[in-house]
Amino acid sequence: MEIIADRDLCIGAGLCVTSSEAVFDQDDDGIVLLLVGEPEGADADAARQAVSLCPSGALRVEE
Ligand code: SF4
Repeated sequence: MEIIADRDLCIGAGLCVTSSEAVFDQDDDGIVLLLVGEPEGADADAARQAVSLCPSGALRVEE
């Protein structure tokens, strides 16, 4: 699976980082940074959770 982050939609809520600090980070403005584009295993599960939690629709998954 591939995770896609649209930094223009991100509002810096940080829920993705809460879901997985291995996959997501935030820059100095709080906007999402993708650390791993194609997470696997537990990281993939956490990334899917982040997609469902993101309040701005900035994250999506492509299989
Ligand atoms: S959860 Fe969504 S809005 Fe919040 S920082 Fe992550 S990508 Fe941005």
